[in-house]
Amino acid sequence: MTASEGEFCRTIGLAEAALDRIKALRHPATPHNFEIWYDYASGHNVELNNAINALLEATGTVTPAQAEEIYLKYFSAALIGERIDKVGTQIAGEIEQVMAMIEASIGTADDYSKSLAGATENISPDGDREQIRMIVETLVEATREVETKNQVMQQRLKDSRQEIRELQENLEVVRTESLTDPLTTLSNRKFFDNAFERLLKEAATAKQPLSVILSDIDHFKKFNDTYGHLTGDQVLRLVAVSLKHNVKGQDIAARYGGEEFAVVLPNTALEQAITAADHIRRAVQSKELMRRSTGETLGRVTISLGVATWRMGDDVASILERADSCLYAAKAAGRNCVIAENAIEKAKVA
Ligand code: GH3
Ligand code: MG
Ligand code: MG
Repeated sequence: MTASEGEFCRTIGLAEAALDRIKALRHPATPHNFEIWYDYASGHNVELNNAINALLEATGTVTPAQAEEIYLKYFSAALIGERIDKVGTQIAGEIEQVMAMIEASIGTADDYSKSLAGATENISPDGDREQIRMIVETLVEATREVETKNQVMQQRLKDSRQEIRELQENLEVVRTESLTDPLTTLSNRKFFDNAFERLLKEAATAKQPLSVILSDIDHFKKFNDTYGHLTGDQVLRLVAVSLKHNVKGQDIAARYGGEEFAVVLPNTALEQAITAADHIRRAVQSKELMRRSTGETLGRVTISLGVATWRMGDDVASILERADSCLYAAKAAGRNCVIAENAIEKAKVA
């Protein structure tokens, strides 16, 4: 067997193993899933294999949501890391060239001052006109040379400035991508957690209100099972759009987990946050779903929401915990509703 035949057999074997896994799990055969299981079959990424094996041991399966989390963790993060490395190398190269240019220009300035010094030495007090003419000519020549070199250097510096600007923009794009959920284009959990921490500190210092909404799609598992995971993904996008349309400037809406969304609303008291949550709920409910390819109507989806507001001594975990209890209460109350912590307290008192 030749080396290329060996490679052929080996990779086909991995591809078949990946496809078998996808079929056994009844996951959609998307490139992401294929990448996960191909890599798993190859055994190259020990951490990935350990994570998958732990899931398989614990539950005997991997859910589509878990597969997506695995993809985000082990694949898209690695891609972003690679791109950051590449931009970093490009910046280092650019800086090296600028440094080389600055050093060369120091050399040129040095030569020029040596020419000047030489000229001064060469002028004898009784020098004749011819001698002075020659010296002036030498100086004019040296000046011209410096000018030309300066022009080249200026152009090169302009080019560098442009290139560094582009690299900065690239870095900004990579940074934004690393904090964005690719499916919904909302902020991801990482961004949300950081922003929430910061906003909570600001609210505590300024003694201003701050509220948080947690929401979760109702009976989403059933929807996925009935219409497929890809249609389910469209629903996630639809919920994301409803969130985006119903939050204002400072608010941060994020995909908090698989089918969970969160909004932090700075400078917003509980009552206003409840109103915002209800607008989101209505927006989701108002949309009739349709499968684009067939025109088939798929009914509507609803979401449940929990709302909590900042109290003295709260940290991110404690306020989120209360919002989560409210969300749980909204599910228990029959779903498609908003429950806020004051309602829970009223219920406790009653
Ligand atoms: P409940 O009303 O109590 O929230 O019921 P549920 O079925 O929504 O809740 P459960 O937690 O049992 O199921 C959540 C489902 O969300 C499981 C999974 O199939 C689905 N899900 C999670 N992440 C994704 C995703 O990224 N895409 C799709 N299509 N489905 C997802
Ligand atoms: Mg859920
Ligand atoms: Mg749900």
